[in-house]
Amino acid sequence: MVGELMKEDGVQLASEIDRDPFKTLIRTILSARTRDDQTIKVSSILFEQYDTPKKLANADPDRVREIIRPIGFYNSKTKYIMDTSRMLIEQHGGSVPNKFKDLVALPGVGSKVANCVLVYAFGIPAIPVDTHVHRIVNRWGLVDTPDPKSTHKQLVDILPRKWWLLINDLLIRFGKEICKPIGPQCDNGCPLAPCCPKLVKKTRGKKRTKPRKPGNKK
Ligand code: SF4
Repeated sequence: MVGELMKEDGVQLASEIDRDPFKTLIRTILSARTRDDQTIKVSSILFEQYDTPKKLANADPDRVREIIRPIGFYNSKTKYIMDTSRMLIEQHGGSVPNKFKDLVALPGVGSKVANCVLVYAFGIPAIPVDTHVHRIVNRWGLVDTPDPKSTHKQLVDILPRKWWLLINDLLIRFGKEICKPIGPQCDNGCPLAPCCPKLVKKTRGKKRTKPRKPGNKK
């Protein structure tokens, strides 16, 4: 299925955003439970003033909080990104580490954020599993898992390494446009419908037809 989708969608990562490791790390921490367009907008404003660990670590927390206020959980995220910046300076010479174990030791960085940084900032094969990836690979029947964490565990075992760098970007776009959480476009142009093993029939929004009365030909 991933191969089929790749034929449809090309093999380049789509996002045009800056791959600088520090910006990628901070942007991904900020992205939790926030729409992508909002994350990109807010992080761009933040980076106009604080685009290095040193600048962000020494920033006025109230000013940082004010900038990221439009996104969810801005109080905890302010603390995460400032503490992370301090830790980068104190423990990594002001650079973002490129090892999973070092990344997940940073405040506000879990498995998904760490894997995103490996893929998008360093081009190191990893599988960031967000809700889109989790939902789609379950619909495809590639895995049968209750949560993204278990999905990640299974994908690492079954997905050929050559797809690791691309699967997150590919499925996020596919999940937003076609294989949506609600109302997947199975019968409306999904290029994978012919080979999707768990084709989700579109049942929502269909009008119920009243049973016809005997003798009524209209
Ligand atoms: S057929 Fe439906 S469930 Fe399968 S990939 Fe397409 S949109 Fe998703």
